[in-house]
Amino acid sequence: MKIVITGGAGFIGSNLVHALTEQPQVARLRVVDNLSTGDKANLAGLDVEFLEGDVQDAVLLNRAFRGADAVVHLAALPSVPRSLRNPLASHHANATGTLQVLEAARRADGPHVIAASSSSVYGANLHLPKHEDLASAPMSPYAVTKLTTEAYLSAYHHSFDLPVLSFRFFNVYGPGQCADHAYAAVIPKWISAALTGRPVTIHGDGTQTRDFTYVGTVCEVLTDAVLRRVVEPRPVNLAFGTRISLLDLIPEIETATGRVVRQEHVPARMGDVPHSQADSSRLRTLFPTVAPVALEEGVPATVDWLRASVISAVPSWGGA
Ligand code: NAD
Repeated sequence: MKIVITGGAGFIGSNLVHALTEQPQVARLRVVDNLSTGDKANLAGLDVEFLEGDVQDAVLLNRAFRGADAVVHLAALPSVPRSLRNPLASHHANATGTLQVLEAARRADGPHVIAASSSSVYGANLHLPKHEDLASAPMSPYAVTKLTTEAYLSAYHHSFDLPVLSFRFFNVYGPGQCADHAYAAVIPKWISAALTGRPVTIHGDGTQTRDFTYVGTVCEVLTDAVLRRVVEPRPVNLAFGTRISLLDLIPEIETATGRVVRQEHVPARMGDVPHSQADSSRLRTLFPTVAPVALEEGVPATVDWLRASVISAVPSWGGA
């Protein structure tokens, strides 16, 4: 199989490239990435063709998709706060970028297209657990771009018979996720704070809950979806219904790092959803064999990776 991964130099994308290189059925991997948030170093040593550029570039996509059996479309500007600062940039990369990907797939004789949506589409809908037939109620421009992504996939399936699948990722975490930029996700940010003796910053009272999914589990589902060519025009939650408050996450991080974590509270963030928990029945019907990695296993694995990267980022005494 020949597979294209957009956003393959990013956190989830590079983990997926690693996972796919281990599959004997995969003959060729091609990454399209403009390196806006990703890093080519994430693909170091891997047998992958790298095309640097934007998913809004139709000519580049024509080249990238030639002969492809499947496209996993992960390229996007992630993060709710980023989209609040610059809604148009998020729209261009995420919504227009997806439309360009679908148009290129159509021109390339219809490879299987799998795309990343997000649990943020549930937004202000307070019903728990979140099942895919709930009304969506986006609370941020980012959520709108993700709703647009999955709506376009569904429309291209119905209009042009394109084989599609969109996943609503919840909070994905694990090795490879950046800890120290303005839009870093909570688990790597807090582990990094614990390892370097800084307090963790809690937005609001910390009782907000999240359904965290280990990146290895996400990649296992994506790999299975590609290899079995799973097609579904309706969006599919990619999380397993485990729900933990941010306050309860702290002891997990303390255990895994062996450090006591200090807390500092700041006002709640605009656009943040209060609670998140997936109904995973559609996912389990389509992917019955996937067993998720539990937080008690995933957090220590993330600590090990971050410990190595924090240590390697600190200049050695008297070093060059
Ligand atoms: P990431 O920022 O690490 O990866 C995104 C990649 O896309 C980066 O390598 C970036 O350089 C690239 N990119 C951005 N805009 C591009 C463009 N216009 N053209 C080409 N490349 C571009 O983020 P991630 O966490 O790996 O997220 C992957 C996907 O999953 C995204 O679509 C994101 O919205 C979605 N998602 C992630 C989470 C999560 O918890 N990480 C949750 C929900 C949805």
